Amino acid sequence: MALSPASNLGPAVGLICRECGTAAELGPRYACDQCFGPLEIEYRFTRTEGAHPEITRASIEAGPRNIWRYRGLLPVPDQVAETPNTEPGFTRLVRADQLAESLGMSRLWVKDDSGNPTHSFKDRVVAVALAAARELGFKVLACPSTGNLANAVAAAAARAGIRSAVFVPSNLESQKIITTAVYGGTFVTVDGNYDDVNRLASEIAGEQEDWAFVNVNVRPYYAEGSKTLGYEIAEQLGWRLPDQIVVPVASGSQLTKIDKAFQEFIKLGLVEDRPYKVFGAQATGCSPVAAAFKGGHDVVRPVKPDTLAKSLAIGNPADGPYVLDVVRRTGGAVEDIDDAEVVEGIRLLARTEGIFGETAGGVTVGCLSKLVRTGQLDPEAETVIINSGDGLKTLDAVAPVVGPSANIAPSLEAFRAAGLA
Ligand SMILES: *Cc1c(COP(=O)(O)O)cnc(C)c1O
Ligand SMILES: [Zn+2]
Repeated sequence: MALSPASNLGPAVGLICRECGTAAELGPRYACDQCFGPLEIEYRFTRTEGAHPEITRASIEAGPRNIWRYRGLLPVPDQVAETPNTEPGFTRLVRADQLAESLGMSRLWVKDDSGNPTHSFKDRVVAVALAAARELGFKVLACPSTGNLANAVAAAAARAGIRSAVFVPSNLESQKIITTAVYGGTFVTVDGNYDDVNRLASEIAGEQEDWAFVNVNVRPYYAEGSKTLGYEIAEQLGWRLPDQIVVPVASGSQLTKIDKAFQEFIKLGLVEDRPYKVFGAQATGCSPVAAAFKGGHDVVRPVKPDTLAKSLAIGNPADGPYVLDVVRRTGGAVEDIDDAEVVEGIRLLARTEGIFGETAGGVTVGCLSKLVRTGQLDPEAETVIINSGDGLKTLDAVAPVVGPSANIAPSLEAFRAAGLA
């Protein structure tokens, strides 16, 4: 095998199976030899564990205004900030008083990840995957994608000067096809749904051993990028955790890693150890995790997705069971809403806060509203919601229901007659 065991991946010291706890050497692997369970990164970065430079609020604040300020907590080389990448992160955390008021809440924040380089949170995970993949000796950056990941991989590979190979379902929104194709690289549309594309990617990864499929064979590294959302929220709140957080769920990785980030910050003494609740948001047309939560099950039964919210349309979510663990441990819930409510969620966020989220943002706002209405989420407690992508990428969702107030002739008379004053 041409690939190397990792020599310089910062504080990462090994891999460990999330199912059976078997340890594995740090390197280009993602499944446990013993039970085929998913592998996760192991670190050494606390004071007592020694080895790596101590992480303090001041050391983080002295870093760049992007995810590399947290490089001491990620499986990336120490010099990562000096290598061309997309430098995502440090997106704005917006106090959302008008949205809060319309929902009968008192303290609400929107973490607006549409501000990343390719306008979704996927730039975070791809930047970490790219940095690790280079260190591990991979030559091509690849992925199966529901759209946003395709954008992020194609852009990051272009900036890094390496080849990309991206596979998406052929029924994807045309905006996401164009916003991937523009970066060049190998770009393949596949006649099948995301779960079909994902299976194909695993098969190709088995043959093309120097292709890093970011969310398949380098998934342990990729997944850690989502932790930066959690770190930023805590830092931007003034080094403390919110009471409640609502997170959109596709594979479920983002939700579980935000929780992991909060736990690491507590363990490192960077924030006070206090209880918080994690809530998951899905569209009813693809809600396998919400169904398992509501049914009281530990296993997530796969579904065939049928929803407008294509970026969340993963019918067989890899991290589904771990989402259930986090939500149940913290006292949260997983909720789902139908497509009409998704569209209303997009419009409500835009009307009240001037933030145009994509369908995933609509799912999150709609689920927040439902969680408050049904008494599952405390309207008085401080809450953060994630807007994970940009509405310009899913224009089709709102195009049928929004438009100009009036069309008039270019005269004052016509303006007066239209009753717009
Ligand atoms: C991928 C994606 C998510 C969810 O990510 P998972 O980690 O797979 O649960 C949420 N929002 C948007 C816009 C995405 O593209
Ligand atoms: Zn195992």
